[in-house]
Amino acid sequence: MDYNMRSMKAEEFIHDGEIRATLAYAEEHKNDLPLIDRILEKAKLRKGLDHREASVLLACSDEEKVKEIYDLAEQIKKDFYGNRIVLFAPLYLSNYCVNGCLYCPYHLKNKHIPRKKLTQEEVAREVIALQDMGHKRLAIEAGEDPVNNPIEYILDCINTIYSIKHKNGAIRRVNVNIAATTVENYRKLHEAGIGTYILFQETYNKEKYEVLHPTGPKHNYSYHTEAMDRAQEGGIDDVGIGVLFGLDNYQYEFAGLLMHAEHLEAVHGVGPHTISVPRVKRADDIDPGDFDNSLSDEMFCRIAACIRIAVPYTGMIISTRETPEVREKIIRMGVSQISGGSRTSVGGYAEEERPHDTEQFDVSDNRTLDEVVHWLMTAGYIPSFCTACYREGRTGDRFMELCKSGQIQNCCHPNALMTLKEFLEDYASEETKKLGEEVIRREIETIPKENVRKVVRERLVKIIEGDRDFRF
Ligand code: SAM
Repeated sequence: MDYNMRSMKAEEFIHDGEIRATLAYAEEHKNDLPLIDRILEKAKLRKGLDHREASVLLACSDEEKVKEIYDLAEQIKKDFYGNRIVLFAPLYLSNYCVNGCLYCPYHLKNKHIPRKKLTQEEVAREVIALQDMGHKRLAIEAGEDPVNNPIEYILDCINTIYSIKHKNGAIRRVNVNIAATTVENYRKLHEAGIGTYILFQETYNKEKYEVLHPTGPKHNYSYHTEAMDRAQEGGIDDVGIGVLFGLDNYQYEFAGLLMHAEHLEAVHGVGPHTISVPRVKRADDIDPGDFDNSLSDEMFCRIAACIRIAVPYTGMIISTRETPEVREKIIRMGVSQISGGSRTSVGGYAEEERPHDTEQFDVSDNRTLDEVVHWLMTAGYIPSFCTACYREGRTGDRFMELCKSGQIQNCCHPNALMTLKEFLEDYASEETKKLGEEVIRREIETIPKENVRKVVRERLVKIIEGDRDFRF
């Protein structure tokens, strides 16, 4: 079996031999400074790198070159994403699960974790609580259980979420993180108006994958790895990939992740919309120490920087699995979306106190959304609640084309300011509001086109008067 990025077979586009050869090549050339310079020169063209080139940068141990890698990642992030950070929250629908994933507390054999599945009334309560925080974008999460969480249940939940309009609130984009499924089910999700379909590979190492998923439908490596191709076939052109760092060695995962991105681009003409970089965390009956591939914060940030350089147009997501300190550092390296005010338990948002009994993992950033928004602004970012692209049909290759041409900046920056204004008007504390008004005043001046600046100013006044949901 040869490596073939265009193949539709998992073991051919995520080819173990090619990954091992890549790691050997990276090890051999990790201090080959002329080669590293050539790779960095290519990266500066902002058209990305292949998995071999990026793996050499990841392996490099020359301090000066590592600094250059970080500086370039920061610069590419600024060029493509400006200083905007998009905010979202996960919404856990059900922790019923028939799989046996060794790292996840929702695994079937865990008999002491209470099992819970939200009714539609409970979904509505969660959505109202999320809207009252100021969220506009959710990622729904559920265990895999064809009896308790069939696709019809997920579709009902999506309908409920979109239907709730509480005060000035609305959830305008629902991303979906559920187990690998059929083309037919992906089509149904597409028709329900989802944003991105997200599925983490967990590990690209097939042997390791099968050990970590000993039982249940998720045991099937090929079915899981080929899921994004079926999602594309079902009409979903924004897909989000990721690995759960800590399960296998990070070099292998990094190469696998980029090979997956190359495969999607080669076959569907559009790479992944987002890449997530979760790390395995303590949870109900899970001790991250049981997996001996933990990753230093330093290397974690390096991975983010190398992803940013290798796939400049792909959004990068960081969750509240990470501490505020790590989040601050890694955001600089190229992250474009973060979760905030998250609760990882089923029904957690409607509770006054953070409940822990049904949590999927311990949250390391416990700040409220208002606190996260405030923190982002003091760190020089514009918190954005924008959901415009997919609602304007800018998905898949249309989004990528705009992104590559730099045109996306003309929409994103004003949209970020207008959605931040909505947040300030409806949900912010006095302190956050004060700081936010200053940020908007300052940032409005950086909109290049005079006529766009004028329209934004008019719309900001209309938002104060009560109008909502303007977008470019
Ligand atoms: N059941 C779906 C699936 O199999 O993809 C939905 C995913 S689950 C609700 C979301 C993700 O949480 C998983 O893909 C996994 O990467 C991550 N996860 C599971 N256990 C974790 C842990 N202990 N620490 C951090 N992340 C974890």
